[in-house]
Amino acid sequence: MAGLLEGKSALVTGGGSGIGRATALAFAREGAWVAVADLTLERAQETVGAIEAAGGQAVAIACDVTEEEAVAAMVAAAVSAFGGLDCAFNNAGIAPFQVNAAGVKAADLAPEAWQRILDVNLTGVWRCLRHEVAQMRRQGGGAIVNTASIAGLLGLPTAAAYVASKHAVVGLTRAAAVDHAEEGIRVNAVCPGYIETPMTEDSMRRRGERIMARVPLARMGQAEEIAQAVTFLCSDRASFVTGAAWTVDGGYAAV
Ligand code: NDP
Repeated sequence: MAGLLEGKSALVTGGGSGIGRATALAFAREGAWVAVADLTLERAQETVGAIEAAGGQAVAIACDVTEEEAVAAMVAAAVSAFGGLDCAFNNAGIAPFQVNAAGVKAADLAPEAWQRILDVNLTGVWRCLRHEVAQMRRQGGGAIVNTASIAGLLGLPTAAAYVASKHAVVGLTRAAAVDHAEEGIRVNAVCPGYIETPMTEDSMRRRGERIMARVPLARMGQAEEIAQAVTFLCSDRASFVTGAAWTVDGGYAAV
């Protein structure tokens, strides 16, 4: 039976770890050729190695999504490797602890921490989307998924810049979906809850019990569970889905 993404070319940012890695692997399992981008080439190569070991096809690309030229070169490299770009998963992101802002309240954030989180999580997504849309326009269509979060729908404690960045990713997703629908480009967001990746180690250590007490399914999610949702949203099965912000959160946002 043909995979959900058979014959499609796909790009994943933040593909060397966590949700991005699981999604790159899932894309390949469903028949896509995958361009795996990450901050360091080594991390991207690790994921490519896993894809190739499973019989898939992938290329590794180093890209910092805060650098315009690197993003342009990343999309160009994906297109030149596979002759086009059908699916893009804009997933690279950082959490407060990565800018020394763990436990810091909104008004106490250092301006540099605020700026860095917005630059990676929001402007990074927009930078990628610009170049992806340019290519998809030339081809006559495509599907983009941006990683937002339950923090794109709710306020979470001591995460103001992160929450603001993810709310903005949901807004960008909706606006881009409206703008590019007539060009055959679908744009959706996935809103993960607490997923077991390196990103959540810090918050689970500090307040894991309190967080889990709030999750109706009473556990953390696995990166693979996000990968399944993203694969569906990128596939033709989701042909009438655009502008959606899809929670995959064990019910967290439903309470
Ligand atoms: P990870 O830290 O495991 O993965 C994030 C990836 O993004 C890493 O490979 C990281 O590279 C990369 N990255 C960081 N900064 C940049 C940059 N400037 N340019 C390019 N790549 C970069 O975290 P997750 O897999 O958990 O997170 C993936 C996405 O999911 C993020 O957008 C996050 O906000 C979102 N999310 C995660 C949730 C969770 O519970 N885990 C919940 C909701 C949303 P490196 O490791 O080299 O720094």
